[in-house]
Amino acid sequence: MSWSLRFLGVGNAQAAMTLGSASAVIEHQGRPVLMIDCGQEALAAFERQYVGLPDALFITHVHMDHVAGLERLFFATYFDPARRGKVRLYVPVGVLPHLQSRLADYPGVVAEGDANWWDAFQLVPVTRGFWHGGQWYDVFPVRHHLPDTAFALRLPGSVVWTGDTRPIPEMLAKFADAGETVAHDCALHGNPSHSGVDDLEREYPRGLLARCVLYHYASAADAEALRARGHRVAEPGECLPLSGPAPGMSR
Ligand SMILES: [Zn+2]
Repeated sequence: MSWSLRFLGVGNAQAAMTLGSASAVIEHQGRPVLMIDCGQEALAAFERQYVGLPDALFITHVHMDHVAGLERLFFATYFDPARRGKVRLYVPVGVLPHLQSRLADYPGVVAEGDANWWDAFQLVPVTRGFWHGGQWYDVFPVRHHLPDTAFALRLPGSVVWTGDTRPIPEMLAKFADAGETVAHDCALHGNPSHSGVDDLEREYPRGLLARCVLYHYASAADAEALRARGHRVAEPGECLPLSGPAPGMSR
């Protein structure tokens, strides 16, 4: 199978130590194409899996279980002349001020001085989507805390990654309408920032639920409970085959 989605971690913020921080990699022919989010545990999982560091990342939002690995990636990238300034960071414009204030603006980026955090990266600000490796990726807002601070990613015809979110039926009606596998935030119990399984069962049609693969849960026992209700649930490290991107859907 030439396209796949590898879950680097599937845990919520409290479960990141055991289930990994929520993150995945879109792969083509077994090679990493795009890492989605970069919590501390996710970066370690990436290094273990691919014996190297990511060349391209999409950031959904700036909770630390999604971006804490970026500081270590900065050091590994800035001090490597072959990689400095070449690691692409696709960041939604609404996310950028928060990434700037939580990571990039910290004084004294390196001990020696004479460095900006962004010197390590190639920033690509994103609104409705972006091109990467010859493919178009859609980006759209989700429901996680303040409006316009958290975003989902779609490789048309292939996969949707919701990031952290409440149910978003109106968005998935538009952005998951081509048979995509939908990797969705879901725990056994929802809260004002995350989806619970009751929420998804109430808000999503059966056909969409059948395409969902759930992640961002609290424990292995919760994963079993979700499976017992008939849902697909991702395991840490699991690699899911995907349909190839739909060629006619590039913008
Ligand atoms: Zn979050």
